[in-house]
Amino acid sequence: MNDDHKSSDTSASTITSRLLRLRRLHIVVALIVATAVALISTMATQNARAIRHQTLNAPAAERDNAMALTSPAHKTASISQDLPLPAAAPPTAPPTAPVATPATKPAANAAAPASPISAKTTAPEPAGSWHNVTVKRGDNLALIFQHAGLSARQLYEVLQLGGPVKQFKTLFPGDTIKLRIDDQHHLLEMVHETDPVHSIHVLARDGGFVAKQISRKVEVRTAYASGEIQDSLFQASQNAGLPDNLTMELASIFGWDIDFALDIRQGDHFTVLYEDRYVDGDKIGTGDIIAAEFTNRGKTYRAIRYVDASGHADYYTPDGHSMRKAFLRTPVKFTRISSRFNLHRMHPILNRIRAHKGVDYAAPRGTPIRVTGDGKVIFKGRKGGYGRVIIVRHGSRYSTLYGHMSAFNRHIRVGGHVNQGQVIGYVGMSGLATGPHLHYEFRINGVHRNPLTVKLPMAQSIAKKYRNDFIAKAAPLVAQLETLDRSRLARN
Ligand SMILES: [Zn+2]
Repeated sequence: MNDDHKSSDTSASTITSRLLRLRRLHIVVALIVATAVALISTMATQNARAIRHQTLNAPAAERDNAMALTSPAHKTASISQDLPLPAAAPPTAPPTAPVATPATKPAANAAAPASPISAKTTAPEPAGSWHNVTVKRGDNLALIFQHAGLSARQLYEVLQLGGPVKQFKTLFPGDTIKLRIDDQHHLLEMVHETDPVHSIHVLARDGGFVAKQISRKVEVRTAYASGEIQDSLFQASQNAGLPDNLTMELASIFGWDIDFALDIRQGDHFTVLYEDRYVDGDKIGTGDIIAAEFTNRGKTYRAIRYVDASGHADYYTPDGHSMRKAFLRTPVKFTRISSRFNLHRMHPILNRIRAHKGVDYAAPRGTPIRVTGDGKVIFKGRKGGYGRVIIVRHGSRYSTLYGHMSAFNRHIRVGGHVNQGQVIGYVGMSGLATGPHLHYEFRINGVHRNPLTVKLPMAQSIAKKYRNDFIAKAAPLVAQLETLDRSRLARN
């Protein structure tokens, strides 16, 4: 029944093998500069737009150049001057704009990364020389000091500083400790970067030492990826330069409307605006998807991320409906539908016409079964042909049923609450079943409905008090998605 769906399997191994197969793809890939965290203002939007314009219309070499321009020395505020922008570019960059980049120190970045805080100490000429020590298994600060020729007295003075210095007590193999030491074996400075953002600094001061923890400013820039699917979503995403974790996020954002295991077709396409995170011009990773669109079999879906005043983040359609539904479409991942909803089916075991008022998902015994919506368990046990079955009621109108289980999740109790996506049991073939599968039913007001086609109720739309703010923020993002999609088309 589903053998026409070549892309029905998105397991890791298949994805890997697909990635190996190179296919012709027309994909726009580029990073755009946009904003520092504090610059989610119109000015930032204008910059982003201007640069996107630049990026999109430039041939590859110039694009690379445009990307290079976004690196260390050229940050947010200076961008509008650095890039040869069209006349429409904002004429003046407010001098107050680059609040978010206090760590910008072009000189330090341009030079070899000698002292991570040289710009901050503002010492005229840092004395001594730097030694980079890579922590080995079994190392500790005492050993490191000893090898560096530093006295036990200095070690004692550093360790008794306490505070952030405590972190020197738990060093991990592979960590780097930078020591600046003068030729009399005096420690002048010590730096330990605990992660790309945080570091601990010890400085010689007035015959002793001081310690402080420094958090580097994370700069968030908007990037985008756009692609068309020839073979698989993962392959197209890779070609578009979209990291795998964001591809997963993309699939989960649109997973309510599109079944990424079954529905994806050649020619489907997507555009994603997302965050890249930088520290001092070095990319340290990606952030969230800001906005995205996915066109599946000619139908375009759009999602906009919105963080409300309480800090709650979610994705909404441009008119403020939740991307999520009150129900998952499928209770099992990556399986095959072995029998559809059919009111006149010949029963394989009973061998007579008997309505099949649900959907069967063939899956290996033990495959986790997820409850499709929040609700209350109203039945758990054996029930005739259903075998081991769980029935969940969702509000006053809806109920779902999960049959033929091999085992229940033992934490599930009748009368207990279950959360959407929670594993309630495992695929089996208890009751009347010819092989391991999940029999799933969806009822509205007690009437069986086809779970594959029933119109699923939405989750909460955006709260009324945030609606205007959301609409105002969504509009420019939708415009960006449209522009990017047009340029993707122009390239094909
Ligand atoms: Zn069935």
